Amino acid sequence: MTILVTGGAGFIGSNFVLDWLACHDEPLVNLDALTYAGNLENLASLEGDPRHVFVHGDIADRDLVRSLLERHRVRAVVHFAAESHVDRSIHGPEAFARTNVLGTLRLLEAARAHWEGLPETERSAFRFVNVSTDEVYGSLGPDDPPFTETTPYAPNSPYAASKAGADHFVRAFHHTYGLPTITTNCSNNYGPYQFPEKLIPLCLTRALAGEPLPIYGDGQQVRDWLYVGDHTAALRRVLEAGRAGQTYNIGGWNERTNLEVVHTLCRWLDALAPRADGRSYAEQIIFVTDRPGHDRRYAIDARKIERELGWRPAETFDTGIEKTVRWYLTHRDWVEHVTSGAYREWLSRHYGAA
Ligand code: NAD
Repeated sequence: MTILVTGGAGFIGSNFVLDWLACHDEPLVNLDALTYAGNLENLASLEGDPRHVFVHGDIADRDLVRSLLERHRVRAVVHFAAESHVDRSIHGPEAFARTNVLGTLRLLEAARAHWEGLPETERSAFRFVNVSTDEVYGSLGPDDPPFTETTPYAPNSPYAASKAGADHFVRAFHHTYGLPTITTNCSNNYGPYQFPEKLIPLCLTRALAGEPLPIYGDGQQVRDWLYVGDHTAALRRVLEAGRAGQTYNIGGWNERTNLEVVHTLCRWLDALAPRADGRSYAEQIIFVTDRPGHDRRYAIDARKIERELGWRPAETFDTGIEKTVRWYLTHRDWVEHVTSGAYREWLSRHYGAA
């Protein structure tokens, strides 16, 4: 049997694919539309590995998804594919409704049709894992307790609204049709292969290029930070033992202000790749106009997954950031390709897709 991963050429998806194939012999079908955020170079180490079947296609293509589910006898779907960047959602929300809401609905319809045709023994073991975000819960005050799985949804950005819409469809497909779904809501991920539009890789790449490090507003927005390898380990555990119909919050117990995050990055860069003039990268920090409607604080209470599934993050913020900085320092060619668009040429050379 096989699992179907959607969005497996993106940041978290590609980390999951690499992690899955390092831990399992079970093959995996990777369906990805290769938007600007999808990068097959992340999966270059899998070239020639028959356990990885890459399919260039859209989650909203019901017939394609249905045929993949049936042809590969899929026993579980892990759904990462999305438009994922809050700033882009502010400038163009429609793409977010299309992919995150309609795309997820079509994927659910195809999964349901496939699942209903399975023999009884395989039906109860089937899983549809929907990877979502803590942003669906809205913003916390400084003294509020962290989000739990029962915190009401209150999405504030178009991105969060579209993910909330997807989560509601997932819940409804379990409640109405009995499809064995699980939703995970995680905090901000960081680590290898993250596209440099998000805070940590953006600041890393700009710091090394000698450019200013832009911080929104006063930099006091608080996020919880989760190392991507801890997230993929949690998702493997959810696939193994997660209960159908449940939601699990996944967090790193690492609440930090954006300014603290960038200072930590600068400290590691100062230690590992000192500036030629001997000064700190922190001197490159500048403050820019805040994002409209910027949520002040997110925090995750991850005790349910820890208690029920025995998962805990292995990295502290400091060890995770050190690994991330070391990865970006030793993968400058990856950064250069992503930022120059050269990876698209690489893609058509290796896979004939553009
Ligand atoms: P990403 O933007 O790096 O990757 C998204 C992937 O989905 C890309 O490979 C893209 O090509 C693909 N994709 C987009 N539209 C598609 C479509 N219509 N059909 C098929 N593939 C399509 O995103 P990410 O950061 O890896 O996030 C993965 C998931 O995790 C998303 O659902 C996101 O909402 C969620 N999430 C991310 C974070 C984070 O910190 N990055 C935090 C919480 C939740």
